[in-house]
Amino acid sequence: MIEDPLSLFQASLEGNDSGTAILVINCIEKTYEILLKNSIFRKLETEFDLPCFLKNKIKQNDFTTEIIYKIDGKILETSFGNFEFNDGSENKQYSKFFIRDITIKQKQEEEIAWRLRFELGVASSIQILIQKSSIRESLPQALYQLLYFTEMDSLFFLKNISTDESQKFEIWVNERKSTEYPLLPEKFKSLDWKEVGLNRWIHKLKKGKIIYLKKDNALTKEKWYFDESKAETILLIPVKFEKQFLGIMGFQKYKPNFVIHHENLLIYQTVSRWLGLFVQRDLDLTELNRYKSTLESLILERTLALSRTKEELERAYKAKTDFLTHVSHELRTPLNSIIGFSKLIQLPEDDLTGKEYLHYIYSGGTRLLKMINEILNLMKIESGQLKLQISEFKPEEIAKQSLELIQPQARAKGMEIRFFPPIQSENIRSDSGKIQQILLNLLSNAIKYGDHSYVEFHCEWSESDVHYTVRDFGPGISEEDQSRIFHSFTRLNEDGKIEGTGLGLSISQGLAEKLGGNIELSSHLGEGSTFTLKIPKNIK
Ligand code: ADP
Repeated sequence: MIEDPLSLFQASLEGNDSGTAILVINCIEKTYEILLKNSIFRKLETEFDLPCFLKNKIKQNDFTTEIIYKIDGKILETSFGNFEFNDGSENKQYSKFFIRDITIKQKQEEEIAWRLRFELGVASSIQILIQKSSIRESLPQALYQLLYFTEMDSLFFLKNISTDESQKFEIWVNERKSTEYPLLPEKFKSLDWKEVGLNRWIHKLKKGKIIYLKKDNALTKEKWYFDESKAETILLIPVKFEKQFLGIMGFQKYKPNFVIHHENLLIYQTVSRWLGLFVQRDLDLTELNRYKSTLESLILERTLALSRTKEELERAYKAKTDFLTHVSHELRTPLNSIIGFSKLIQLPEDDLTGKEYLHYIYSGGTRLLKMINEILNLMKIESGQLKLQISEFKPEEIAKQSLELIQPQARAKGMEIRFFPPIQSENIRSDSGKIQQILLNLLSNAIKYGDHSYVEFHCEWSESDVHYTVRDFGPGISEEDQSRIFHSFTRLNEDGKIEGTGLGLSISQGLAEKLGGNIELSSHLGEGSTFTLKIPKNIK
């Protein structure tokens, strides 16, 4: 049986985890009275001047929640819960007042917020590293970003440039949160860490361990570092990639008695791992570029050597061509005399042997002259000395002239040449002499190698080209031989029965190309051959 409701109410207040009191507030006088309070309230009353706090609040009629930061670091949260209670008096206001220690909760929240901030810094600095291609450019910016979000005051990245003899580092990054903090002194640039008593650090760092050291805990021989850098606490983390020690990421704090939490150390280490990856990537790229430029200069060297060789070859080739042209010319002059005089010699009618010899001299001489002329021609084409004589003419006229000139050869073999002129008659601009030379060669070959009673000779237009086609019904040329016969001195079935030098087609093809055209061949063994000379209407 419950007899005392007040004690029951008091007991219910004790069940609360915060300091609780029931207040009666005089709304006119702005005073208050505590009706009931629990033990937590009583305890907090001793730590904090609650009467003064409540007095002020009530005076200002301020019943909002308030957080109090005490000098000793404690954080208290206060709140009011006014309620209606009719005791007949108009000027009274009843209120439930709560006060609780939220120091731990607040610290935790702050800690979480801080860690989030730190992680944000890590993410944004990594993002900077990813976006930029050169680490030397992006690293200071990325690490400054990181520093800004950390608890440390300054930061540096030292790139390992050690050799077997010395332990040296290059300062790649040297940043601080504010100018009130000192930067790493310049002398660090040329320090050999082994020589200046920091061997223990290097040894540890190379093994992948971190150095987290306060000035007071440093060895005597290490103390100078703290004096020089003015740091109170240092955190050095190795930057490695696989087994390679690439450098040191260092953080410094200038405030004494500073503690880095274990979780934060892990984050710093994560950053150093990322950094290792980026530094290595940069080193690889630099190496690659070095290879590339070596390769480029090698190629350039080779190209120069090749072009020198090419020039030498061209010079040698020109010398050979000049020599041949000269020799051919020197041969031609006496030969002309031999041929000419052999024609003039009058032998007695009955000197048949003499006449036979004279005939040999004459025909041998003409053959030789033809050959020399052809060689001369070929040399001119190959050495680029061939001069064109451009004029305007009708293509069928040249065809007709060639026809007339070849007629004796055809007649001698009892062959007919059937000519098909073009439907339209139009002028072309080209070298008529060279075209005639080609046509005579093609017609002569058709007669020489053809064994049918006639040869076909077409002259026709195809868009802006003129096509001269010589078709014979001779033995034909196998596919394999078709490209060969355009090479100089190539003759098929060289049994001596048909005279020739093997130069005609290569000269003709060279001339045709000089005129901006070409000669095409279509042939099947046993079905004859068709040679088509294609010449553009206007030579360029
Ligand atoms: P040549 O007739 O003086 O030997 P060409 O360069 O004119 O030299 O011809 C090269 C070779 O191509 C000839 O020796 C011959 O074997 C072959 N040839 C050329 N024209 C024909 C043709 N119309 N039919 C068959 N073979 C041919």
